Amino acid sequence: MKGSLPMNSLTKENNQLVLRVAGFLDEAYEFPEIPLDPEISHLDVDWQQFKSINSMGVLQWMKWIRRFSETYPEASIAFQNCPVSVVNIFNLIDGFLPRGAHVESFEVPFFCDHCEATTDRMFAIDTPELNRVIGNQKCENEGAILTLDASPSYLHFLWSGPKKIAS
Ligand SMILES: [Zn+2]
Repeated sequence: MKGSLPMNSLTKENNQLVLRVAGFLDEAYEFPEIPLDPEISHLDVDWQQFKSINSMGVLQWMKWIRRFSETYPEASIAFQNCPVSVVNIFNLIDGFLPRGAHVESFEVPFFCDHCEATTDRMFAIDTPELNRVIGNQKCENEGAILTLDASPSYLHFLWSGPKKIAS
């Protein structure tokens, strides 16, 4: 059924490239060619259509993003719509989220101690009082406060200090 999967795409919007990562990242995954364009100053990586990744896919990604950073050493990079699986990988594997990259939106896994429901919810990093908001999520079923369904280190990337590269 591989043919019916969404394809990744790399589009240019003004001086930004937008990479939409889609489907299953494995050894057969083909990332788009990186164009040579002196206008490019930013890369958005959107994980919304991403499904899953294996260790070969991790290597493919690291190769691609390294090549991007070598081609555009001054460009800023932002990750958007990161699912739980992607956050888990960049928490584990140094360089998956490139140094200086900014995570703009990401999912957090929750568990309800009351009804045992699990749910992943998306947050934007610029949400005011993000810590408090994440700590006060309520279950859709009965309104109980949800528990983080991950180790506390899951959210460390949020507080690991300013990641913007000084210009
Ligand atoms: Zn519940």
